[in-house]
Amino acid sequence: PCGYRDEVTSTPHEPDSGSGQPHEPDVAGVELSMAELQLRIAEDYERERRLAHIFETIVQGLYLEEVLDEIFESFHTLIPYDRMDCALLNHDRTQLVARWGRSDDLQLRLKPGFAAHVAGSSLEQVLTSGEPRIIDDLAEYFRLHPDSKSTRLIIAEGIRSSLTCPLIANGIPVGVLFFSSLEPRTYDATHEEAFLRLASVVSILVEKSRLYEELALLNQELTEARDLLKERATHDDLTGIWNRAAILAHLDTRLKQAARQRRALAVAMIDIDHFKSVNDTYGHQVGDEVLRGVAVTIQGVLRAGDEIGRYGGEEFLVVAEVADRSEAVGLAQRLRATVEVLRFGDEDRQISATVSIGVAKARPQRHDTPRELIRRADAALYEAKHAGRNCVILAGD
Ligand code: GH3
Ligand code: MG
Ligand code: MG
Repeated sequence: PCGYRDEVTSTPHEPDSGSGQPHEPDVAGVELSMAELQLRIAEDYERERRLAHIFETIVQGLYLEEVLDEIFESFHTLIPYDRMDCALLNHDRTQLVARWGRSDDLQLRLKPGFAAHVAGSSLEQVLTSGEPRIIDDLAEYFRLHPDSKSTRLIIAEGIRSSLTCPLIANGIPVGVLFFSSLEPRTYDATHEEAFLRLASVVSILVEKSRLYEELALLNQELTEARDLLKERATHDDLTGIWNRAAILAHLDTRLKQAARQRRALAVAMIDIDHFKSVNDTYGHQVGDEVLRGVAVTIQGVLRAGDEIGRYGGEEFLVVAEVADRSEAVGLAQRLRATVEVLRFGDEDRQISATVSIGVAKARPQRHDTPRELIRRADAALYEAKHAGRNCVILAGD
């Protein structure tokens, strides 16, 4: 508004001067100027109000898409367009890559991902000069630049003129915004001005949101990598159940818990019978399938809180809470019977498997360590193998 005050005060208002005098005041002119001033103040006020609204809405977005969507919604009041696009410089600043494009009505042919070399292109000038560029007639422009793929695409959409605005954040070119119109000669200096008023804020917002997006993406990758590492460190690749270290750690924790809470804990050492001959007869892949099937099936029938891990090649360790010795045997028998009825392979070649199980129940009065408990279960398993396999033996107290 300050800019317009000079205009008014510089118009002298001297009602007493006679007509025909060289300094005759133009009363009608003053009134006109006043009306114009009011109009311009009103316009200016409206423009400031719109700018404030644009700033307000676009700073709320964090992600690039959000910010650009807000810009798309907001700029309509300042600059006319039928489509709007944002292209950003890639990391080594050699290419401009279309990142976002939007139109209310048009079927977009020039799509995000479209990349063009900057060097020697007409956009290089826009980026280095920092000045917007207007193309009044794209059809004419295309006649002069028949190799411009992007021009061909937007002409096919019906676009006839464009305003290209550089995005310069902290003095460094980061990309461009394109405003495009279905009508030729849509843009003039007032639109360039409108953009330039917002250019620094828009540029910094676009750049910030792009960085934020990169950061968010990196963070996500990092989280995924960490989760994967954690999964790899604690799980068996082939079967997906706990690995040896994890099931042993679990056993250690549960034993200490059980001692405190005076609850009974049992371990079952499960070994697939004659598994070597499964490999020898059907091959390792079928062997793997049997291993997976046995592990996953047992895991599926365990009660919540009970766990299974792969202890060795074809050996599994189950850690379960039980009321007493007979419940421990009951649980092991249930697991044995579940495996017995499983079928692997395909229709013409059905394969079955059995397991032998050694069970040991922790003895609270003796403060069994994981090592001792496993030793007793192992000894019971050895007995089960000798007893003819596909059976359960409970370790003595
Ligand atoms: P037993 O009834 O006495 O336990 O006989 P077994 O053949 O099951 O026992 P043995 O210890 O002789 O053989 C175990 C076999 O398990 C040998 C080994 O090649 C196989 N094995 C171990 N890990 C894997 C694996 O990850 N995949 C496959 N396919 N086979 C495995
Ligand atoms: Mg075996
Ligand atoms: Mg074995």
